Amino acid sequence: MDFSLKQRLKNVNDRINNTASACGRDPETIRLVAVSKTRSPDRVKEAIDAGVTILGENYIQEAREKINELSAYPVSWHFIGHLQTNKAKYAVRLFDLIHTVDSLKLARELNKQAKKINKIQQILIQINISKESSKSGVYEQDLLSLINDISCLQNLSIRGLMTMPPFFDSPEIVRPYFAVLRRLRDQIKKEAIQNVSMKELSMGMTGDFEVAIEEGATLVRIGTAIFGKRN
Ligand SMILES: *Cc1c(COP(=O)(O)O)cnc(C)c1O
Repeated sequence: MDFSLKQRLKNVNDRINNTASACGRDPETIRLVAVSKTRSPDRVKEAIDAGVTILGENYIQEAREKINELSAYPVSWHFIGHLQTNKAKYAVRLFDLIHTVDSLKLARELNKQAKKINKIQQILIQINISKESSKSGVYEQDLLSLINDISCLQNLSIRGLMTMPPFFDSPEIVRPYFAVLRRLRDQIKKEAIQNVSMKELSMGMTGDFEVAIEEGATLVRIGTAIFGKRN
């Protein structure tokens, strides 16, 4: 059967609400980031009309065009891809939240660019829990010192943590990675570092978002379950 985007979005929202309720969480504490990479502006517009309020993009160039075209819509754009330092300038102009900060070099450039436009840029720190060399993210052992360093940058505001676990067929196999992110969140919180909030945990995608919610996700990044398969 061919489901409409609207039906698929409702299904995703129902699953988020049901999972939250079943594990004793307030569904309001979980926000859906609809991942719109590779989707046309028309398709994104359809999602906005269906009720999506946060969109996640991976590529600066693609996002610039899309965000320009859809600038009349009161939605929030999040950056979830790998960010090169030379694109920091665009990222701070386009995005309310950048999920993927993983080095001091990148943070300094974002801070510099945010300062230029008088913005406090909200960011998450991306962690590479599995230490796969192909993946972005700071290693666990370097996390605290990175957060301490970034906390001194006046135009950045750390809001929490993000991770992309390795791909497994079963969401249960991914659960321990989500649990680690939550434990790190709790540890950092205890440090009570000035200018650092640990409110957000960005984790969970189409294949595993229910498990991520059970482990404490506050931002789930979902593309395929809303828009269908990517080409
Ligand atoms: C593409 C992407 C997603 C969404 O993946 P789906 O499996 O389509 O839900 C989530 N997070 C990141 C970082 C992505 O690149």
